[in-house]
Amino acid sequence: MVSKVLRDGLSVYVCDRCRHGYHDAVTAERCETWCRTHQKCNVSITEKAVGQLDTS
Ligand SMILES: [Zn+2]
Repeated sequence: MVSKVLRDGLSVYVCDRCRHGYHDAVTAERCETWCRTHQKCNVSITEKAVGQLDTS
């Protein structure tokens, strides 16, 4: 499930699979659905990421 975190005062939605963060929840959901289905990232989605967050 996509998790919402605060980063530099902005909301970031994080894919639970690959930990890429996005500013909009829809893209994060697309990423997570793709990651779960294909067991890998979709570059056309992750290129929209604002960064990859570690799990800490
Ligand atoms: Zn992902």
